[in-house]
Amino acid sequence: MSIRVEGVTKLYGDQVALNGVSFSIPSNQVVGFLGPNGAGKSTMMKILTDYIPPTSGKAFVDGIDVLLNPIEAKRIIGYLPENNPLYYDFYVKEYLEFVGSIYKVEKLKARVAEVIDITGIGYEQNKKIGSLSKGYKQRVGLAQALVHNPSVLILDEPTSGLDPNQIVEIRSLIEQIGREKTVMLSTHIMQEVEAICQNIIIIDKGDIVANGSTKEIASLA
Ligand code: ADP
Ligand code: ADP
Repeated sequence: MSIRVEGVTKLYGDQVALNGVSFSIPSNQVVGFLGPNGAGKSTMMKILTDYIPPTSGKAFVDGIDVLLNPIEAKRIIGYLPENNPLYYDFYVKEYLEFVGSIYKVEKLKARVAEVIDITGIGYEQNKKIGSLSKGYKQRVGLAQALVHNPSVLILDEPTSGLDPNQIVEIRSLIEQIGREKTVMLSTHIMQEVEAICQNIIIIDKGDIVANGSTKEIASLA
């Protein structure tokens, strides 16, 4: 299992954001993490990517305990947060080299060229990030998440705020990336899951309410 979450509870004061959540995600699948606003999706993703510790419970990525070994876990996780902060004054290629250098990526220039190719931003690589459309900014975000060649990608609402054409393009890019990596993608849109996710985990008010193949769950809905 690429991602394994066991009994994770997260309280913010009295507010229960996650209520003893357990699930696992097998390798090399695109799994949708579906739920309405406030369901607990971002909180779960932040726990996996080590931004916040849970109140209780355990989380593993490729067998590594993300709470006990956060630095090791980060090496195998690529994370694209919701409203990913980008440095608008950086040039695209320069920015990706900067991020890669933080991760001490080997053969950095070659790897950056590779992720530029994968995410289709060759024409934009020498432009300033601030000058790009939202769709292309999101491609830079995906390139940034991929630069250290993680085996697991965690994408928080990756198509939110994009226009319909950009949504189609970003979905197809994620689908392509998902052929070689484990992808956990959060969304509040069922059609997004139906379009690109083999499996689906549905969360509502901090509880997992369904977990299975998208086909099965879509047929019940
Ligand atoms: P989603 O990503 O599904 O929209 P979140 O994980 O952002 O859900 O939020 C889950 C619940 O936790 C919500 O009720 C939200 O208001 C609350 N919450 C999230 N972050 C914080 C925080 N930093 N402080 C207090 N409450 C929070
Ligand atoms: P659009 O896709 O409609 O062009 P953007 O993603 O470019 O929208 O802009 C999103 C937000 O970022 C806007 O509020 C915009 O003013 C701001 N922004 C765009 N470029 C820069 C920049 N170089 N520096 C700071 N903020 C910027």
